[in-house]
Amino acid sequence: MKFTGIIKSTDQIGRFKIPKEYLETYNITSETPLKLFRRGKSIIIQRDICNCIFCNSSENILTFKDKYICHHCINKIKDKATFM
Ligand SMILES: [Zn+2]
Repeated sequence: MKFTGIIKSTDQIGRFKIPKEYLETYNITSETPLKLFRRGKSIIIQRDICNCIFCNSSENILTFKDKYICHHCINKIKDKATFM
């Protein structure tokens, strides 16, 4: 992990503002879902990537056991399962 040189505090209700240049660099908008993780004493912010684990599609995504799978791949799995 690399220190960015930026030190900020939360406001009175716990909000933390991500610098605009970071939002632009990582193409994060107000519509971008973000996940927070704890790692030791650190808090990590990560874009919530909702792409299919098999084909990387981002359309018609469902979650199963915390994994993202598209409808197309689910149907392919169903077809395989019927031949077994
Ligand atoms: Zn897929």
